[in-house]
Amino acid sequence: MATAVAVGSSSPSEVPLLVGGEFTKSETSRWGTVFNPSTGKPLAKVPYCTAAEVGRAVEIASQALPGWSETPAVERARVMFRFRELMQSKFEELAALVTREHGKTPAEARAEMQRGIEMVEFSCGIPSLLMGQALENLATNVDCETSRHPVGVCVGITPFNFPSMVPLWMFPVAITCGNTFILKPSEKVPLSAMKLGELLTQAGLPAGVFNVVHGDKEAVDALLHHPLVRAVSFVGSTAIAKYIYQTGTANGKRVQSAGGAKNHLIIMPDADLDQAVKALQASAFGCAGERCMAGSIAVPVGRIADSVVEGLCKVGKAMKVGATDSGGDIDMGPLITREHRDKVAMYLDVAKQEGADVALDGRSFDLPSDGFLLGPSVVDKVKPAMRLAREEIFGPVLSVIRTDDLDEALALGRQCEYGNGACIFTRSGWAARQFKRHFNAGMIGVNVGVPAPMAWFPFTGWNKSFFGDLHIQGIEGVQFYTQQKMTLTRWFQSAGESHEDPVWKTKAGGA
Ligand code: NAD
Repeated sequence: MATAVAVGSSSPSEVPLLVGGEFTKSETSRWGTVFNPSTGKPLAKVPYCTAAEVGRAVEIASQALPGWSETPAVERARVMFRFRELMQSKFEELAALVTREHGKTPAEARAEMQRGIEMVEFSCGIPSLLMGQALENLATNVDCETSRHPVGVCVGITPFNFPSMVPLWMFPVAITCGNTFILKPSEKVPLSAMKLGELLTQAGLPAGVFNVVHGDKEAVDALLHHPLVRAVSFVGSTAIAKYIYQTGTANGKRVQSAGGAKNHLIIMPDADLDQAVKALQASAFGCAGERCMAGSIAVPVGRIADSVVEGLCKVGKAMKVGATDSGGDIDMGPLITREHRDKVAMYLDVAKQEGADVALDGRSFDLPSDGFLLGPSVVDKVKPAMRLAREEIFGPVLSVIRTDDLDEALALGRQCEYGNGACIFTRSGWAARQFKRHFNAGMIGVNVGVPAPMAWFPFTGWNKSFFGDLHIQGIEGVQFYTQQKMTLTRWFQSAGESHEDPVWKTKAGGA
C-alpha cells in the first residue's frame, strides 16, 4: 500500500493528498516547506491545493456518503476499534512524528497522542449516543420518536500546535456518526495527519470516507464555498476562527470554530506555593507556550506576589531548552517557525517599552542558533491595558498582573476578550467556588494548571475563544455531526380490522 509520506531523506519528500483512498501528488504550482523546528532544516514540501483539487475531494467524499451513512453504526464503530489498535501499536512512531514536525518534547508528544487515542475510544461508543428518544401515546394513539442522522460531508481545518490531537477531535466523531470527512491540516504540520490517514485506510475505512487536502486560504475558501460541504469544524487563531464562522454560516453550513486564548492563573495567598509555581511553570512553558489552554497571565493576589515571581524565575531559569528530536533530556523544545519565535521575542521589547519588568528574559539562554529556540520568560508588573495582557502571544512568555484581592482578579476575566480557560490555586473552598461561578471563561481549573477536558467532555471556550453553538468533544460533538429527525405516528384501528396474520393463516390452512 502507498504510504503517507517518507521524511528524513536528503531531499524533502512531497506530501501527497489522500483522496478516494489514494495518496496522490498535487498538481498545484504553489508549495510550502515543513520544517523540523529543532534543527531549522526542511522535512518535506507541502502542496497548497488548488480550488479544483479541493472540489474533487469534496465530490469524492459526497459519492462515498450514501454507502457509509447506510453502514450500520456498530460496523462504523468497529473501524474505530481497529483504528485505535493500530494507533496504539504505532504509538511511539506517531509521537516521534509529532515531535519531529512540531518540536514538542517526546513526553508532550506522547501526552498528545494519548488524548487523541481517547477521542477514538470515545468514538467507539458513539452508537449509544446516536439513539433517539420515544414516547408512546404522546396523544391518543399517537407515538413520537426522534432519530439522529449524519449531516453529510464535513470538513476539519486545524492548527499547527496539536498536529494529531486536534484532527482527532474531529474526524473520528464525524465519521462514526456516518458522515464523510475532508481534513485540511495546518500546512506547517501535515505529516501526522497523513499518517493517521494511512492507519485509517489499514483499519478498513472505505475509500473516500476520509480525505486530506493541504494548503492555505485558497483551499480553505474552496471548502467554505462548496455547496456539498454541510459542516465545518475549525480550530485556530481568533481572527481566522471568526472569518470561518461568518463565511461558513453565510454559505448555509453548520460551523463550530474555536479561536485563540489568554488564560489567567490566579494564586490566592493561602495556596500551596510550591505546588502552584510548578503548575504555573507547566501551564505557561509546557509545549513552549503553544497551547490554547496555556496559562499566559499569572495573577498573584496580595502579599505572595514577590514569592510567586521569584519562584517562577527560579524554575524557569533551571529549564533545559533545546532540540527535542535527538533524545536528550529536554524540558522545553523550539517554537514552530523562525518568524513565530521572533514574534514572541518581540513581545519582550514591547513589555519594556510599556513599562513592565522583564524578570526572566528567554533571550538570555545560551541556545543553539539553528533551531527555533527561545527560553522561558517571566514579565512582572504588567497592567491590564498593556499589549502583553491583551494579545495572545502563543509562546513561553508568562505575564504577571499583581492584584489586591479576588474581586480584582475576577475583574480581569471580565475585561478579557477571550474566554478559554482560567485557574485558581487556593485552599479556600469559598474562594474556589466564587472563582468557579464568576470567572468569565468556559474552562475552569481549581489547583489544576491546564483545565483541558478529556474526550468525554466538551471543550467549552467562551467569548472570542469560540464561535458557534455546539462545542468540540463530548456529546456536543456528536450533536454537531448529526441532525435529528422527529417522526409522529398516528395509529388507527379500522372498522372490522382483523389481527390474524393472513399469510400465516393461508399457510396454516394449506398445511
Ligand atoms: P491559524 O489561525 O494561523 O491557522 C489555523 C488554520 O487556518 C490552518 O489550517 C491554516 O492553514 C488556516 N488559515 C490560516 N490563515 C487562513 C486564512 N487567511 N483563511 C483561511 N484559512 C486560514 O492558527 P495556528 O497558528 O495554526 O494555530 C495557533 C492558534 O490556534 C492559536 O491562536 C491557538 O490559541 C489556537 N488554538 C485554539 C484551540 C482551541 O481549542 N480554542 C486549540 C488549539 C489552538
